[in-house]
Amino acid sequence: MLAWTDDEIPKVVIPEAEKYLIDLGVPIFSTVVYRWPQAEPYSHVGRASDLARYREDSAPSSRRVLLAGDFMSMPYTEGAAESGQWAAGQIIRAVSRRAL
Ligand SMILES: Cc1cc2nc3c(=O)[nH]c(=O)nc-3n(C[C@H](O)[C@H](O)[C@H](O)COP(=O)(O)OP(=O)(O)OC[C@H]3O[C@@H](n4cnc5c(N)ncnc54)[C@H](O)[C@@H]3O)c2cc1C
Repeated sequence: MLAWTDDEIPKVVIPEAEKYLIDLGVPIFSTVVYRWPQAEPYSHVGRASDLARYREDSAPSSRRVLLAGDFMSMPYTEGAAESGQWAAGQIIRAVSRRAL
């Protein structure tokens, strides 16, 4: 799609995304297109250790705010989902402990 115009891209992308997120396009009144001809996920040396330490220090109920997103896991969409799942698990564990 790199050679497509800014108007052409949303006309294809939004209906494609709506197969998974119904009516996604309804509230969209404008779009912005960025082109990245070359992009590669980046992870600096030591990142995995830093993240492991963050998770070890985030025992349920020890933090009121949990950070989640691709920057807190693998640097792509699977990482974003994985870290969200981890954060949700921490919240569930904290709530379950309080209920006991
Ligand atoms: C060019 C490019 C190509 C990519 N290709 C792939 C690919 O092929 N496959 C793949 O798996 N991943 C790919 N990725 C990575 C993928 O897009 C990200 O890993 C994923 O979107 C991260 O999701 P996220 O929810 O953590 O963060 P984001 O999708 O970045 O969402 C964060 C949201 O928070 C909002 N936000 C930020 N600050 C604030 C604030 N202060 N207040 C309110 N809102 C705020 C932002 O506007 C954004 O909407 C690509 C990324 C880029 C840039």
